[in-house]
Amino acid sequence: MADIESCALHLPALEEIAAVLESGLKKNYEDVQVEVVDCPDLTQEPFEFPVKGLCGKSRIADVGGVPYLVPTARPDKIYDINTVAKQIDLPGAYILGAGAVSHRSVGMNAELIFSVQAESSSSPAVNGNYMASVNPADNSCLLEKYQDKHKDNAFGLLSNLYASEGKPGKVIQVKAKRRTGKENFVSCMRKSLREHYGDKAVGMGGTFVIQEGKAKLHVMPREFSACPLNTDEDVDRWLNYYEMRAPLICQSVFVSHDPGFDLRVEHTHCFSHHGEGGHYHTDTTPDTVQYLGYFHPAEYLYRIDRPAVTHMVGRD
Ligand SMILES: [Zn+2]
Repeated sequence: MADIESCALHLPALEEIAAVLESGLKKNYEDVQVEVVDCPDLTQEPFEFPVKGLCGKSRIADVGGVPYLVPTARPDKIYDINTVAKQIDLPGAYILGAGAVSHRSVGMNAELIFSVQAESSSSPAVNGNYMASVNPADNSCLLEKYQDKHKDNAFGLLSNLYASEGKPGKVIQVKAKRRTGKENFVSCMRKSLREHYGDKAVGMGGTFVIQEGKAKLHVMPREFSACPLNTDEDVDRWLNYYEMRAPLICQSVFVSHDPGFDLRVEHTHCFSHHGEGGHYHTDTTPDTVQYLGYFHPAEYLYRIDRPAVTHMVGRD
């Protein structure tokens, strides 16, 4: 079994977090509203999750890491959702987030967009994950439902996950329109928490919809790089970048401060119902962009199979 480390995260009241996010977002977006609401039913469109909410025994798990992708890929780094759910003491957890597929299962490299309920003693796993790969026919993005192609619940290399019992309950609703600053939606929220809470780490997970506008996303090539990717520029040249259109449904995990676990402090992958998806960088239409999100803080942080040798290349 992979090495597991864990710690409790700082857990402020939802109302307090909402106020911090609102004041931070107002520095980067023209029209911002953040409030505590009952989580909408996430089984409904456009989310279509296997569970209704984001609440109950919330955790963040950072599994593997970028050092298993660059400079040289480690396709032997393979994980399983059901195993991870047990490792974070939450069998049957609903898990969302951003990561990579298992090369052994899929036969290629691809982005993985998590929305999966792990198996429990009473029910099998419900795998609503999507995978985004580069279409070999024309280099466009190919978004597929994982369970249409594969029957397992595997993933690989690295993943940033938010887990909960998937119950209804109170969440933080974030609305932001028209970007006036440089920060993307997620970085802006993460940095607001960092500024307010300092080295008390606050971890958040949730889902947001880019309702209007377009966004810059990347999709990793199907083949791992034959030569080592030693710099951010090398990684940039290797990735395929796209401008994708709303509505995009984005699965996001972020931590305000790394308490010494070599975390990826933010990671967001998006899917859609029109065939586009991948790794979120930022919107490309600041004048028209509209974000609507639902987030919840995590009680605990788990670090699973942390790379022994690390670096800061490729963390965007
Ligand atoms: Zn990614």
